[in-house]
Amino acid sequence: KKKNPNKTRIFLPHLMASMEVEESYIMIKPDGVQRGLVGEIISRFEKKGFKLKGLKLFHCPKQLAEEHYKDLSSKPFFPKLITYITSGPVVCMAWEGVGVVASARKLIGATNPLQAEPGTIRGDLAVQTGRNVVHGSDSPENGKREIALWFKEGELTEWTPVQTPWLVE
Ligand code: ADP
Repeated sequence: KKKNPNKTRIFLPHLMASMEVEESYIMIKPDGVQRGLVGEIISRFEKKGFKLKGLKLFHCPKQLAEEHYKDLSSKPFFPKLITYITSGPVVCMAWEGVGVVASARKLIGATNPLQAEPGTIRGDLAVQTGRNVVHGSDSPENGKREIALWFKEGELTEWTPVQTPWLVE
């Protein structure tokens, strides 16, 4: 079987079996940090059962913000988006898990917070697209790309959470 470069196979000792996991780059945007929502947002991914592999507070340079959002560079809101993302520190996170990319998008909710379902981060905590508090990768491929873009070598940690046997049967 052909190996998917965007997935990693990890061994589960309690099952004597392995599973394929992917990674998502999740970022609390400057409004989320300024509004004191860091703990609230991290908590939602933590409680869901995903595994945190990287975490830092970081004031990102314009060039990095432009690279991260390069697919949107032709949009009229692009300059404002770059000003917003570089306006204060962000919290950069790498999360790992089975289906974490699509699941994180669901936990985050629709891009426009007024259309985001209650219960989602944006649905519960924000009112405007231009201040939607959090970013989540839109594909496993972009998850890998964005984590490599925002984290340096040595900033990601491999570890084995003790809760795994209580999450996966
Ligand atoms: P998502 O973050 O939900 O994946 P997009 O990739 O479409 O959404 O857009 C990236 C980010 O650009 C959004 O989260 C939002 O911060 C900003 N953005 C998107 N559309 C608009 C808009 N019409 N006006 C202002 N900002 C926008």
